[in-house]
Amino acid sequence: MPLSEFSIISRYFSSLGRGEAVDLGVGDDCALLRLPPDHRLATSMDTLVSGVHFPKDAFPENIGYRAVAVAASDLAAMGASPLAMTVALTTPDADEFWLNTFSQGLSIAVSQYQLPLVGGDTTRGPLAITVQVFGAVPKDVALLRGGALDGDMIYVSGTLGDAAGGLAFLQDRWQPAPEHADYLLNRFYRPTARLGLGMELLGQATAAIDVSDGLLADAGHIAAASGVKLNIESGLLPLSPALISHSHFAESLEWALCGGDDYELCFTLPADLSAPQGCTRIGEVTRGSGVSCDLEVDIATGYRHF
Ligand code: ADP
Ligand code: MG
Repeated sequence: MPLSEFSIISRYFSSLGRGEAVDLGVGDDCALLRLPPDHRLATSMDTLVSGVHFPKDAFPENIGYRAVAVAASDLAAMGASPLAMTVALTTPDADEFWLNTFSQGLSIAVSQYQLPLVGGDTTRGPLAITVQVFGAVPKDVALLRGGALDGDMIYVSGTLGDAAGGLAFLQDRWQPAPEHADYLLNRFYRPTARLGLGMELLGQATAAIDVSDGLLADAGHIAAASGVKLNIESGLLPLSPALISHSHFAESLEWALCGGDDYELCFTLPADLSAPQGCTRIGEVTRGSGVSCDLEVDIATGYRHF
């Protein structure tokens, strides 16, 4: 007997909903959340489609974790503190191993990011997962894309290009040294949403975005929204030992500049503020428009597979 929609929900999804902001979780027509006084609700949604955003044979725990991390990353980019999330699951069948392992991935992310699962939707169809996250930002100080100023310094958290390297490895386009293999796969499947950093940057960063589509593309969004130019120096990009060890180093730089899926934060700070721990200065803001990088031309002519 295939599981009914209601047994799926009660077996795999209804126990992950406790949290400070939750008045009412799974089981009624809506969840009820508390918002702290003088805060605004920050909300964002991301959909991952099998075969498009993750390989069809990906381990379900990774799919569950990654779906939450990707959505939570948008809260991080606004400096929002996490309140709760909802999950819409579309699945072709009610495979119990798959559901169990998927919900374990959700559960890990629920505790790591303090995002209780308070509701969702469960339907039959081609595998896809939509996560909507809810967070709270103090009134008037959310980190937006549009506040970077001439003279600000540009920073990123963590290292860049690892997820693209991990994906290249998954797709047999690159064979990293064995000691780096797990690290790279983890950086693709288990990105870290930088929620703590986002909150730390409130009131300090003039603009912020999470790097989901590639540094140059996402920095371009800050430039456009702020009406300034972002000048990025390729020599300053933070690269992991795994990427530094790549025998074709130019490809590592290309991943760091153009590869997506890292979910690090890119932000701008006034020049007199120092960078939070774990962040690296990668350039500066000047008057003008768009993004400039000393390597842009080489990359555009050298490689076209992104
Ligand atoms: P409705 O028909 O009122 O939309 P559903 O029958 O779809 O309600 O869902 C019943 C309850 O289970 C609701 O509280 C809903 O939010 C929750 N729910 C459904 N699917 C999921 C899921 N994948 N994860 C978490 N909660 C879910
Ligand atoms: Mg429903």
